[in-house]
Amino acid sequence: MSAVLLSGKQLAQTIREKAHQEARELEADGLRPTLAVVVATDDGSTHWYVRSIERAAGSAGIGCRIVDLGPDATEQVLASVLQDLSGDPSVHGIILQTPLPPGVGTDELVGHIAPEKDVDGANPLSLGRLAVGRPSFAPATARAVIEILDHFDIPLAGRNVVVIGRSAVVGKPLSLLLLERDAAVTVCHSRSGPLEKYTRTADVVVVAAGRTGLLKGSHVLSGAVVIDVGTNVLPDGSLVGDVDEDSVRGIAAALTPVPGGVGSVTTSLLLLHTTEAAREQARTLVPGSAG
Ligand code: NAP
Repeated sequence: MSAVLLSGKQLAQTIREKAHQEARELEADGLRPTLAVVVATDDGSTHWYVRSIERAAGSAGIGCRIVDLGPDATEQVLASVLQDLSGDPSVHGIILQTPLPPGVGTDELVGHIAPEKDVDGANPLSLGRLAVGRPSFAPATARAVIEILDHFDIPLAGRNVVVIGRSAVVGKPLSLLLLERDAAVTVCHSRSGPLEKYTRTADVVVVAAGRTGLLKGSHVLSGAVVIDVGTNVLPDGSLVGDVDEDSVRGIAAALTPVPGGVGSVTTSLLLLHTTEAAREQARTLVPGSAG
């Protein structure tokens, strides 16, 4: 048996087309949905990623404003830029791209992103609202995992799901989204002990640790579904996930590839969140307009 590959490409395309359609409708009402991406690094792979968001936005009729503050930007400058963008009516979504300059912390800064423009669910208010089931944007990567599972008709209610990783951007929000879908959720991390103690009973394993080859075939049940969120750049420049594909492929029933899995869906969801944010902001400003 060899695991079926759960490619995210078709789903990513469908979501991007939906965002494009939304953008056309908003444009007909005189509003161009616009995403601002704040960058403060000279890291090449980050700039490559930001350009890929810009290209995807362009092809979906969404404006993309890259605010590049350079690798020496101070926390004060970043905070002030995020506040300005939050108050700018021509911007509907804001992302603060990591990594940030040394010594600049993400935690305080993301609090300056207005919750209604927080299309990547970075502000702690968004996570709090998610925790109590109030409307908010979930981090796009966490939502991408759910969208992939839904797209391939993988049931979640009453299923045993193990999430490896407990970060505020992936593991925690994903565990909340899974709970909302009535899964029985276990979250593992670097201090939770041997992974197989948890993963060997899981119907679905989601790994988001950023550790090449962390999840091996011996960790998973025969027939399990494995979602690989990890993105690790090898010395030769190639991109791999957290799953040891060679050993997992023969055991799992299905596996997302890296690249071409969760990551491709994530970018499309950022665009869709931006059109959703623009529509909601237009509705709030002028009751009855833009849908
Ligand atoms: P992070 O903040 O570094 O968190 C990693 C998590 O994994 C932590 O909770 C850590 O545990 C846990 N962990 C690390 N080593 C482990 C081990 N040996 N066993 C069990 N748990 C372990 O990373 P992140 O921002 O959540 O991102 C995780 C991965 O997803 C990275 O590869 C990142 O590049 C990727 N990512 C992909 C996308 C996408 O769109 N595809 C988007 C975002 C992130 P502790 O809490 O105990 O330290």
